[in-house]
Amino acid sequence: MKDATLVNHPPQVEVPPDNHPVVAPIHQSVKFEFETVEETLRALRGERSGFFYARSSNPTTRQLELTLAALQGREDCMVCASGVAVVAQTLLSLTKQGEHLLCFVESYGPTRQLIRRVLGKFGVTHTMLSIEDLAGIEAALVARPTRLIIFESPTNPVNKIADIAAITRLARAHGAMTVLDNTFAGVHQHGRYDVDYYLHSLTKYISGHGDVLGGAVIANTALIRALRADFTVFGSMLDPHAAFLIQRGLKSYFLRYRAQSASAQRVAEYLVEQRGVERVRYPGLTSDPQHALARSQMSDFGGIVTFDLSGGAEAGRRFAEALELFAITPSLGSTESLVMPPQLLGSRDLPDELQRQAGIGPGTVRLSIGLEDPDDLLTDIGRALRAAGAG
Ligand SMILES: *Cc1c(COP(=O)(O)O)cnc(C)c1O
Repeated sequence: MKDATLVNHPPQVEVPPDNHPVVAPIHQSVKFEFETVEETLRALRGERSGFFYARSSNPTTRQLELTLAALQGREDCMVCASGVAVVAQTLLSLTKQGEHLLCFVESYGPTRQLIRRVLGKFGVTHTMLSIEDLAGIEAALVARPTRLIIFESPTNPVNKIADIAAITRLARAHGAMTVLDNTFAGVHQHGRYDVDYYLHSLTKYISGHGDVLGGAVIANTALIRALRADFTVFGSMLDPHAAFLIQRGLKSYFLRYRAQSASAQRVAEYLVEQRGVERVRYPGLTSDPQHALARSQMSDFGGIVTFDLSGGAEAGRRFAEALELFAITPSLGSTESLVMPPQLLGSRDLPDELQRQAGIGPGTVRLSIGLEDPDDLLTDIGRALRAAGAG
């Protein structure tokens, strides 16, 4: 065998069947082969287990999918290269020309843009309401056949809580499917509700370290099967190395989510007491207008704390710039704390009236609490508030 041949047919290292790695290896291979054409065909027909091409599936990504499905309390899952990819692929796969969907002002910006620009181009219409408007949801469902409702809880950026039981009941009664982007609540919450599809950005709490992008759709077997053929041709499969990093981050998911929730609770309680700080929104605050609903739906309230500075946008800018432990950057749920000042929070696709409906004011600031010592975070926040003329 010449060297050019050898490098393409390297020696196989066999691991004996009774000898297992404790951490699953990364199967960084696009292709998988069987010994015979017949076995290959049997695998493709689903008559035996095995892998063929990584755009359909790969053992490393499959391990992550099975873990996520179990945590969310459903049977199956597919992972994608990013959270936005999973939102796009799910909505493109579930809808067709002439159909109508319901969405909300309080949603992730790119999801709204996808619905308006991309689905709109293919003749899918939508009604956009406020997540608080249950009467409006019912009226919209009565007014016209609706394929699906896509919503979030807690919502971005002001932590409004969707009434999941009420929304899913209305959807069932009117033959609409429900798609819940559960990124903020994480993979361990909301599983007991009658939701058809759960979507996640794995980039946030699930991987947790801010070093990898990923997305997941989780549902029961038949519902995932309905998407699988389309997902294979959309083609944004998660890379096995990214899947390995996410699976690794997931091991500390519960410790991180709960520590971040506990620190966020302390930050929220501290902010409520500060001069120049208004309308602190954190679902764990007993003073939060939706605390009772949040308590009934959630066991942990997450790491996002949002509030308004009475000094407006300029105070928000000074506050964010004076913070030392918070990076001025989007995203959430990572080990470092992050801040979004008002200048970066407003969504360009929402006119002023809808921004107000979404709960975004001129002085709105969003914090994502990381894993730093909470005493240090409070000291940093106190100092930055004074620098911004508050506190
Ligand atoms: C971040 C986020 C997304 C998009 O995820 P990416 O992994 O950044 O593509 C979707 N929905 C929500 C609620 C998010 O916070």
